[in-house]
Amino acid sequence: MQQAVNLIRSSEDILILTHKNPDGDAVGSVLGLADALESVGKNVKCFSKDIVPDVFDFLPNISKIKNQTVPEKYDLVILLDCALFSRTGIDNIKDIASSFNDILIIDHHPKNQTECDHYEKCIFIIDPKVSSSAVLVYELLKNADIEITKNIANCLLTGIFTDTGGFQHSNTDSQSLEAAAEFMKKGSRVDKITKNIFNSKSMAAIKLWGIALSRIKTDAKTGMAVSYVSKKDIEDSGAKEEDLSGLVNVINTVSDAKFSLLLTEFENRKIKGSLRSEEYKGIDVSRIARSLGGGGHKLASGFEFDGDLQNNVAKISEMILKANRK
Ligand code: 5GP
Ligand code: MN
Repeated sequence: MQQAVNLIRSSEDILILTHKNPDGDAVGSVLGLADALESVGKNVKCFSKDIVPDVFDFLPNISKIKNQTVPEKYDLVILLDCALFSRTGIDNIKDIASSFNDILIIDHHPKNQTECDHYEKCIFIIDPKVSSSAVLVYELLKNADIEITKNIANCLLTGIFTDTGGFQHSNTDSQSLEAAAEFMKKGSRVDKITKNIFNSKSMAAIKLWGIALSRIKTDAKTGMAVSYVSKKDIEDSGAKEEDLSGLVNVINTVSDAKFSLLLTEFENRKIKGSLRSEEYKGIDVSRIARSLGGGGHKLASGFEFDGDLQNNVAKISEMILKANRK
């Protein structure tokens, strides 16, 4: 942590990157950190390969996250909410990263340091025990004596809120709640974040959720509850792919399933899998995700699969069955 603070103090131009398909923790952590670093005079640029979902438009400085080409001249590059440059989804990023001077990696996904990207000057703040990267950013800002403003508080509270599923998942711990309390003292409000993130869906999105929910099947062999949404479903509904965020958590409420899977066809022949489980069910879905080339947390993971949806739901179920037997 101290090395990271020193690195930040000695850097002027800072680039912040995060993973593709940025979620609330990625977006909130990036914006909170960017705002804080700017408040102490740094030049900060933020970049995401994918467009930030509209649901985060309520965050104060949302337009700061750009999705243009990554500029190459920086004193410091911070990789946030992932530990591998390949997770940014940026073309040639591994080559680009080798030209970076200093790199700070801040992440809370379970990983051995040996599995992370190592470049010559790389400092890691990695703690899989914390609920969210936003908590790690908060710890960093406290160590750097940077004041938490209301804007920073709003961004970081959004990160904790989304990664804990609105303070419902088993990663909701005292550290997260204490950080949330500090943010509320700065004027941030949980009810506003709840309204913006969970409770303002379009009619088209709700109807699309209905289609996916009506298709849920439980599979006795794997113990999973599974559903899927095709590209055509999304197009026909008039909703957007990002409107499916949170749906897998509802599929995961089927109490007699051991875990849940939502398959979304986001491009032709490209499928995204989202896996969820609950602590008491004794399943580690990150193992399943890793066996399919993805990753994530014990109770919330994901993977991508090349192929069309029609022919692959059964095949993916079969691969999951195998992964579970190992
Ligand atoms: P979600 O299902 O919400 O997209 O992702 C759940 C968790 O799994 C998040 O922490 C996310 O970063 C991680 N995750 C999702 N997809 C992938 C993937 O393709 N690769 C890796 N390594 N992690 C993923
Ligand atoms: Mn996260």
